Amino acid sequence: MSNGWVDGGGAVLVIAETRRGELRDVSLELVSAAREVAQAAGATVAVAVIGADSAKFAQALGAEGVDQVLTVSAPSDNFEAHVWQRAVTALIESEQPRLVLVGHTIDSLGFAPAVAARQGLGFATDVVKVSFDGGLRARRGAYGDKLQAEVEFPDHDCTLLTVRAGMYPVAAAGSGSPAVRAVELDLAGAARTEHVEFRDVAGGDVDITKAEFLLSIGRGVEDKDEVPRFQELADQFGATLSSSRPLVDAGWMPSSRQVGQSGKTVKPRVYLALGISGAVQHLAGMRTADTIIAVNTDPEAPIFGVAHFGAVADLFEVVDGIEKALEQAS
Ligand SMILES: Cc1cc2nc3c(=O)[nH]c(=O)nc-3n(C[C@H](O)[C@H](O)[C@H](O)COP(=O)(O)OP(=O)(O)OC[C@H]3O[C@@H](n4cnc5c(N)ncnc54)[C@H](O)[C@@H]3O)c2cc1C
Repeated sequence: MSNGWVDGGGAVLVIAETRRGELRDVSLELVSAAREVAQAAGATVAVAVIGADSAKFAQALGAEGVDQVLTVSAPSDNFEAHVWQRAVTALIESEQPRLVLVGHTIDSLGFAPAVAARQGLGFATDVVKVSFDGGLRARRGAYGDKLQAEVEFPDHDCTLLTVRAGMYPVAAAGSGSPAVRAVELDLAGAARTEHVEFRDVAGGDVDITKAEFLLSIGRGVEDKDEVPRFQELADQFGATLSSSRPLVDAGWMPSSRQVGQSGKTVKPRVYLALGISGAVQHLAGMRTADTIIAVNTDPEAPIFGVAHFGAVADLFEVVDGIEKALEQAS
């Protein structure tokens, strides 16, 4: 069976994400993805937001290209997987979308697979690109991100995708003027867990996904005692320090600073990689940075395959040079 959107119309439904009273960037990234697919498929875009105070996000979610914002009133603003599962299921039944986009986030992973399985939807996770060319296609990593696979959903009228954060630009909040509709759903009693409190983890002070300039260090720094030197350099530059996974595994850096497949996906204006080889799992988290600069002694290091500027050099010599230049400038 063909998806046939061009003839059949249909909507792309985005499920927005909020946390602690704030709209998360991934919501407006999903809007960008939805717009792209909707344009190619001749479909409309609806964005649903769920929460006790959902209406307050309607204006921001009304980005250009959004046709409708659906506000769903829930018993609490705090995410609860069973409430969201019931709400999203009901929205799919009432709105009959062809495609549902949610973030590939901790929250969504709590309900999206259950919704897809119970409703018999097409489903793919950790999607990095969604497209429509006569039929829906989702691009995602396979074999630990060593391959990129294109997944099709020919036998499904509706498909649910979890889309990786940082893969699409954040659509300009409030740049459109969509219709806003309150959707009444019976969500009372759906919750099976109770939100108690938010706790900030140590080292969670900095959100590397929001940094404009990341100075990222890898195993090439060789010694834990060297880490403060790079923190100091980052501070002087106005950069945020991040790292590859081995430094986190070794306890040299907090997990909140890890870039990559099992860490954070970042999209800074500048990503300066010092002593990072560029393993696929690392590239998965930073390859869409605007400008990537790599310093590595190994000219064959894969990081040079994605870098816009590179130096085959000893990172300590480069850092010595930068420190000297900063000293002279001050
Ligand atoms: C399921 C799974 C998930 C993973 N998730 C992640 C993830 O989220 N993030 C992540 O980063 N990794 C992740 N990994 C690990 C990943 O495969 C790599 O092992 C890791 O990224 C390597 O880190 P690195 O580049 O710092 O170290 P290495 O690969 O050891 O590279 C160190 C580099 O430093 C260079 N170097 C050494 N000395 C110097 C010097 N003096 N000057 C300049 N260059 C120097 C070397 O040439 C080398 O290229 C994951 C792996 C798996 C299996």
